[in-house]
Amino acid sequence: MRAELVLDTRCGLGEGPVWDERGRLLYWVDIMAGRVQRWAPDSARVETMEAGEPVGAVALCEDGGLVCAAQSGFAVAERFGGALRPLASYEGASSEIRMNDGKCDPAGRFWAGTMAFDFRPGAGALYRLDPDGTVRRVLEGVTISNGMDWTADGARMYYIDSLRRTVDVFDFDAETGAICGRRAVVEIPEDAGVPDGMTLDAEGRIWVALWGGGAVRCYSPEGKLEEVIEVAAPQTTSCCFGGEDFSVLYITSARDGLSEAQLAGAPHAGGVFAARPGARGRAAHRYRRTTGAA
Ligand code: CA
Repeated sequence: MRAELVLDTRCGLGEGPVWDERGRLLYWVDIMAGRVQRWAPDSARVETMEAGEPVGAVALCEDGGLVCAAQSGFAVAERFGGALRPLASYEGASSEIRMNDGKCDPAGRFWAGTMAFDFRPGAGALYRLDPDGTVRRVLEGVTISNGMDWTADGARMYYIDSLRRTVDVFDFDAETGAICGRRAVVEIPEDAGVPDGMTLDAEGRIWVALWGGGAVRCYSPEGKLEEVIEVAAPQTTSCCFGGEDFSVLYITSARDGLSEAQLAGAPHAGGVFAARPGARGRAAHRYRRTTGAA
């Protein structure tokens, strides 16, 4: 199966798609450009919100508004296009480190991890922003913190530290947010690219975007390869289900790291792609903040 180009946005580092089923909008970020973008699939217009610094991920708030994992810390905006206000910094923040991929868990906490701009091994970490605005450092020694998602029963959390080349899973305590028992469920072969962002479908299957692989792969919960969706952008970064009945898999991509020759062969790199693989997704969890609201 091949994904189709739906938006020729030419993002340097398009990442972190989130479907807003209430507004019927797709949100994503262009990380190094410091942009949060959104688009209604029945329109041709992409709206942009400037974060003023690199922004690794965006999530929706339960009470409206947005929460972002910006380079310097977590920040909230009361509405799209509104001012982004710092909410909380994180231990280890520096000019050499930035936030990367993030997502909300079933209890409404916002998780995001970090990485060094120079990809220094082990310089990143995984953080958890609780509803009351408290930030906890949950995992250390991370190199490139990337995709995550939670099973529908809230018992497990998937997580990708890209250079390990695996999709890992933790036992997850939804009540406390604690994670333990890390093990790998998927190993990505060297010639398939590097695992980047991911999402689970309604049946718990794992959809992983492959940086350098020009594809999204679907694995069973047990780690068996079930499907490959080809994407005409080698740097395939992340994916989420959205659209009518969550039946469309939206896929983000990047131009970063591609040579002139590679860009000539993949002119739509950095665009947003879509496929209808016959699977359905679930609504994204939202940040249930109890603080920081205007
Ligand atoms: Ca990523």
